Amino acid sequence: MTTLPELLASGTPSFSFEFFPPRTAAGTRTLWEAIRRIEALAPTFVSVTYGAGGTSRDRTVEVTKRIAAETTLRPVAHLTAVGHSTAELRHIIGQYADAGVRDVLALRGDPPGDPSAPWVPHPEGFTHAHELVSLVRRSGDFSVGVAAFPERHPRSADWADDIRHFVAKCRAGADYAITQMFFRVEDYLRLRDRVAAEGCDTPIIPEIMPATDVRQIGRFAELSNATFPDGLARRLDAARDNPADGHRIGVEYATAMADRLLAEGAPGLHYITLNRSTATLEIHRNIQSTRDTRTARNTQSTQSTSTQSTRSAHALAAAR
Ligand code: FAD
Repeated sequence: MTTLPELLASGTPSFSFEFFPPRTAAGTRTLWEAIRRIEALAPTFVSVTYGAGGTSRDRTVEVTKRIAAETTLRPVAHLTAVGHSTAELRHIIGQYADAGVRDVLALRGDPPGDPSAPWVPHPEGFTHAHELVSLVRRSGDFSVGVAAFPERHPRSADWADDIRHFVAKCRAGADYAITQMFFRVEDYLRLRDRVAAEGCDTPIIPEIMPATDVRQIGRFAELSNATFPDGLARRLDAARDNPADGHRIGVEYATAMADRLLAEGAPGLHYITLNRSTATLEIHRNIQSTRDTRTARNTQSTQSTSTQSTRSAHALAAAR
């Protein structure tokens, strides 16, 4: 079976979808409906986030194992060091190995409850993600991904500090990185340039989060620290009472970002689904149709720009 690093090195952009472990039976049904719809597209991989603690963690392991056992999808298991001893982490990694899961996203995690509280490592655990990267590497034949931050991690003292630690994670054995959500393409490009300037060529996959409702913006800031473009906020605010308009604006903006990221050479796109597939599937279809159009036009050697790209450029410009 082709490994994930081999797929990422193939030159064809990867596309992947992120889920979280549901809490209820209804949530489980919604998740599995989304998984089945996404399975039909044969994505490069899907990933399942790791809960902050307790039973949500068991559900992460269950969902990830079930995807490996019952679907044709390649599951990437998120794993964090929060509250775990090294022995516990080894045990979870062993469970994944037994279930045929071969891909892990190794994360430090945040303090449970208040993510901005001081980080306290487990007395027999890890302080930073690079240690977990090394552990997963030593534990078997796994591919390992890590997190990257287009607006730098809020705990990094400055950019130099952030990039140095990111590169250390890559040198500890990471095969690729996935970014935090962000809403300005330039932030991704600057991060990539800074990492490349340190001689690190680990592929960095941008995360795409469709923002379709102005009321989500506060939550995004809480989750990610990402700067939200004023123009996009204004447009979503104007559509506050019209969900269909909000949906269209969010999908158009995310499509434009995704399109430009691929044109700038991003190795793939990682879509946050929130366990629903509608918006992400629309963006994915838009991107596919743009790429198909471009391929057809390149074949005919025309110089014209695709309608979709033009529309995408307008969506980004309008949102500034
Ligand atoms: P680290 O790489 O350890 O970095 C954390 C901070 O420590 C940074 O400021 C870094 O500069 C600094 N640092 C790193 N190494 C050193 C060192 N040697 N000395 C001093 N400082 C150092 N969280 C979850 O709980 N569950 C998830 O499933 C999850 N999935 C995520 C998926 C993606 C794609 C991303 C981007 C984030 C995800 N997170 C998840 C959030 C993540 O756990 C937090 O953002 C966390 O604060 C940072 O994790 P990290 O792996 O980047 O940590």
